[in-house]
Amino acid sequence: MTVDGALYRELIRLDGKGYRSYKELQKEYPLDNATLFIDHVQGDPFAAPSTMRVRLPQSEAQFPPEAFQSRARSIALRDLIARRFWESARTNAKGGLASGSSGTISVPRPGQAVLERSSVVLNKDYVEVRFSAGLPAFGRQVAGRLAAEMLAEKLPIIVSDSLCYSSYKDSKLFQHLCTVEDAQHIRSRLKDMGLVAFIADGSMLPRRSGVDRSPLRQGATPFRSPDSLRIRMRTPNSGDVWGMGVPEGITIIVGGGYHGKSTLLDAITEGVYDHIPGDGRELAVTRYAAVKVNVEDGRPVESVDIRPFIGSLPGGIDTASFCTQNASGSTSQAANIMEALEMGADLLLIDEDRSASNFMVRDRRMQELVPKGSEPITPFIDRVRQLWEGKGISTVMVVGGSGEYLDIADTVLMMDAYVLKDVTEKAKEVAAENPSRRLREEGEGFISSMDRYPLNTDLDPRKGRKEVAVVARSLHSIQFGNGEIDLSAWEQLVEASQTVTLADVLVRSIDKMDGSRTMRELVQEAMKGISKDGLDSLGRLNGERATVRPFEIAAAFNRLRTLRAFQR
Ligand code: ADP
Ligand code: MG
Repeated sequence: MTVDGALYRELIRLDGKGYRSYKELQKEYPLDNATLFIDHVQGDPFAAPSTMRVRLPQSEAQFPPEAFQSRARSIALRDLIARRFWESARTNAKGGLASGSSGTISVPRPGQAVLERSSVVLNKDYVEVRFSAGLPAFGRQVAGRLAAEMLAEKLPIIVSDSLCYSSYKDSKLFQHLCTVEDAQHIRSRLKDMGLVAFIADGSMLPRRSGVDRSPLRQGATPFRSPDSLRIRMRTPNSGDVWGMGVPEGITIIVGGGYHGKSTLLDAITEGVYDHIPGDGRELAVTRYAAVKVNVEDGRPVESVDIRPFIGSLPGGIDTASFCTQNASGSTSQAANIMEALEMGADLLLIDEDRSASNFMVRDRRMQELVPKGSEPITPFIDRVRQLWEGKGISTVMVVGGSGEYLDIADTVLMMDAYVLKDVTEKAKEVAAENPSRRLREEGEGFISSMDRYPLNTDLDPRKGRKEVAVVARSLHSIQFGNGEIDLSAWEQLVEASQTVTLADVLVRSIDKMDGSRTMRELVQEAMKGISKDGLDSLGRLNGERATVRPFEIAAAFNRLRTLRAFQR
């Protein structure tokens, strides 16, 4: 490394000065064959770290065009570079040198999903990584020598580890790209094949723990499709793959407790994203517009038509335009479903573990004891077929507790000690031998075509002296002014970088919530902006963002407690 370079000299010159003199660094420097852009310097050693970019021309990086020629490959390659950069930075610049974040170089840590990320930009001219760096200090004084070591010696090592094609094993690199390409190909075929999901034989579905989404390695039973559902799937890179095709319509997953039902549903839930090689779910692929709908009591609901599920509430509360700051179990789940439909979901995913039981079903005895007139809820069981037959919306759900669902399911799968069986025929026999005495309660057809117009009248993103205090706090939490958006029931957020994107989209959307656009239009506009101008268009240039679906954006809007909306 050029330890006698301009940046090095500059840092040595600043040594011992007040921390603010680091601000003088805000420009660009040559760094070997790369360029370092110091975009924003932190005000003090304990503030959020400084943001920088390092750009290496392709003449040096030399990634072959076939590694990024398609959109799928380009996203995958950038994802791989982000992983490498993260790993190398962790070893070479993990900080702990002096005060605060001194000496740390980092990008957001990528998880099990391959996502489009703003941390890496790649095109035919250059590769660029956006990272944050804690400029070193002793107390509040510039630690110039440490800074020089960090930026002029360590950073070039990290750059050559991650931004140069020659640092990658060809086989590893193309495996990453091909895995994503295969998954995306399968996803693009599902609809034409009449499927909602595909899970390849040999997939490893269980995760290490509730907080660690890496695969369970010890004693995991690999997935095997029931023979009746096994199909052959063509892939661009792995030839023909065999596995289970989950058909459209209504599929229920039954089986004993602890037999792996939720694990299977979770794999389907996360199958809207592509996964890294070694994850175990590389070829567990679900349609893009699949939405997990949970119970979420306590959530706010703003002007949602929940009539298909909830009729007249006590006190004459309006359910055609239902509003509450504190939804009950059943009303929260009803709202979650109606909002998913509003955004165009074509597959609903439901787990009894995270559902309101009175929302799922009402049995005959309860129907006798509490007559329909006194029960506002039309349970999901009476709507699920209307959703499929009338609107083409499929459902996959885990129901171990209620045999009533046997009557309405097209496919019945049983998890038996982690082995999946197709018990559809058996279920039909059981249903015929033990007729349900339940009365159907569906009433008229499923009505829903909500045109909801969000209003910003009560939105206040300010906090203290900050004009806009809208910040992702964690994977499931966004601070909005003095309030908080709680996304903890939203399982389809997999990385905090996605939450950063949601916070930025929110800020950009506030002005547009003027009653002239529907929720759907607002979200579509945001998605269009991202796909046209990229994640960078969402605000200050940084490497913190990752891609989301329209459903996640709507989920954040819908949980904003001060959002108002009206229907037309
Ligand atoms: P259920 O929903 O049927 O009660 P879960 O899906 O929660 O069951 O699984 C119960 C436990 O079994 C979990 O700890 C899960 O990680 C584990 N598990 C699930 N599938 C497998 C598998 N294929 N091999 C080994 N362990 C598994
Ligand atoms: Mg379960």
